[in-house]
Amino acid sequence: MKPLKRYGQNFLIDKNILAFIISRSRPSFQDCVLEIGPGHGVLTRALLAEGVACLHTIELDERLRPELEDLAANNDSLKLHFADAVRFDYATLDPFPDKVIANIPYNITTPLIWKSLQYPIKYYLLMLQKELALRLIAPPDTKERYPLGVAIEAMGHASIVKRVSRKSFRPAPEVDSALVEIVIEKNFGIMKDSSWSELLHKGFAHRRKTLRNNLGEVAGIYSDKRAEDLTCEQWLDLYKNIKPLLYVEGAL
Ligand code: SAH
Repeated sequence: MKPLKRYGQNFLIDKNILAFIISRSRPSFQDCVLEIGPGHGVLTRALLAEGVACLHTIELDERLRPELEDLAANNDSLKLHFADAVRFDYATLDPFPDKVIANIPYNITTPLIWKSLQYPIKYYLLMLQKELALRLIAPPDTKERYPLGVAIEAMGHASIVKRVSRKSFRPAPEVDSALVEIVIEKNFGIMKDSSWSELLHKGFAHRRKTLRNNLGEVAGIYSDKRAEDLTCEQWLDLYKNIKPLLYVEGAL
């Protein structure tokens, strides 16, 4: 099977990284895990070996169906889904997962995380392209700051738990990777509110311009600042102002 670049097919070959993913994410018999892009099933097998209660996989490449079906034939807890994970309706996953563990392609990273945060999943361990990982954890006043980083901070936190060399994959990608852990602990449901995502996207639409330019009067006391300057608390403050009736601290 020829690996497809457009599907971001860089398969993990480094046993130490695999062991790290397992020890860090601690899958147990109490967990239902969602793995996006199982590929040839390296991580899938390792998760099954931990005895997870349930493992859903979502894979786009139909060529992988025979080998993944072989694996599922011997593992009752493995539930295969062949679909585009960005379009897939997670609400149909039964039982519903509590952890997402995945090595996901660069081009779908942002939409996929954005979408996942709309569901009540509290833990993520994701292998991402290093540059993207750095954007996810970028603090205010940096040019790497972007809407998804703010959105995650509003709900919990993201951290880089390990840098991973491009040599850990076959074929080796052109850039290095990093394992990012995301823990969600507050503001559940905020991502389902389109006014929150609109606020962030419109605010960041023209990064070099002030928020007055991007948001008009909604920018209020932050009119002269730029999107990348605002702290997460200041974004939530702006959001509170456009949602005076709906927003109650911690209640979302
Ligand atoms: N987890 C495996 C494979 C990683 S490569 C490993 O670590 O070895 C990325 C995988 O994601 C490939 O199997 C690719 O086919 C799959 N993929 C790419 N785009 C996808 C999408 N939109 N939805 C689901 N899977 C996708």
